[in-house]
Amino acid sequence: MSNNEKQPLVQVKDVCKYFHVGKNADLKAVDHVSFEIYKGETVGLVGESGCGKSTMGRCMIRLYDPTSGEVIYDGKNITKLTAAEKREFCQKVQMIFQNPYASLNSRMTVKEIVGEGLREHGMSGKDADVKVQELLEIVGLNKDHMSRFPHEFSGGQRQRIGIARALALKPKFVVCDEAVSALDVSIQSQIVNLLKDLGEKENLAYLFISHGLSVVKYISDRIGVMYLGNIVELASSQNMFDHPMHPYTEALLSAIPTTDPDAKKEIVPLEGDIPSPVHPPKGCKFHTRCKYCQEICKHVTPELRELEPEHYVACHFAEKLG
Ligand code: SF4
Repeated sequence: MSNNEKQPLVQVKDVCKYFHVGKNADLKAVDHVSFEIYKGETVGLVGESGCGKSTMGRCMIRLYDPTSGEVIYDGKNITKLTAAEKREFCQKVQMIFQNPYASLNSRMTVKEIVGEGLREHGMSGKDADVKVQELLEIVGLNKDHMSRFPHEFSGGQRQRIGIARALALKPKFVVCDEAVSALDVSIQSQIVNLLKDLGEKENLAYLFISHGLSVVKYISDRIGVMYLGNIVELASSQNMFDHPMHPYTEALLSAIPTTDPDAKKEIVPLEGDIPSPVHPPKGCKFHTRCKYCQEICKHVTPELRELEPEHYVACHFAEKLG
């Protein structure tokens, strides 16, 4: 089924999130971004630090209110929910954080951490204990872990506790913000596999935020590439890797190490640092680092255009480069 025929679960419509950082100065963390996530779909969001991907994720679950634009969840604008709708929304959307060391309260036992949401939504006593035990088993832990404290666990186990906590209220949409970045590579794959299996079983939609493109490829149905607050390319995971059309995506992909010693790979170096989001370059924001830059790129901002079915690119010369 093409995305046109499916029902979106979350719609991001022309969202901006600016932070006021001084007199007449705004940090444009998210700058007119639109996309949607369908039920059961995983969308990966990638880009360098400071590109706005985490801010975007936070706007989608109302940890931040957008400066302008709308986020629609299941047909409703999330900034205009009634008290009852807000309660339901908080149950249906969850977040898994980057740092499994900082995101768990060190004074609470695992039973208290995982059961916190259940208690807030009226489940307590034996029922809550049974549910916590079930959740721990789902994420590969067991009931003996219930009475322990976070410091008694490894990073991977802590992230499993964070996942159990996020799943407690049977969410439909989960934002994973660099959920595996702080873990060892061997543990990363275990956690990504766990998230993938759970997503398939529970028909969860994920926004999977990461700066690691290879991890994102493995778990995502579609990938959005962000640069200085904008999505510059959005396509299916396969298309993005087989046929990138934006110079920034090309550079990110070329930097992925390969394990094949015979693979001939041209490295497209990314020159310079990402410019300040407080004073982004005029025209195409990527022009200061783009080896294909032409005069027009310095003055005219490229629109995000659908150049192939469900493949969107914001570059004046994408057809030629692609
Ligand atoms: Fe490069 Fe110009 Fe395309 Fe921007 S619009 S990515 S500067 S070629």
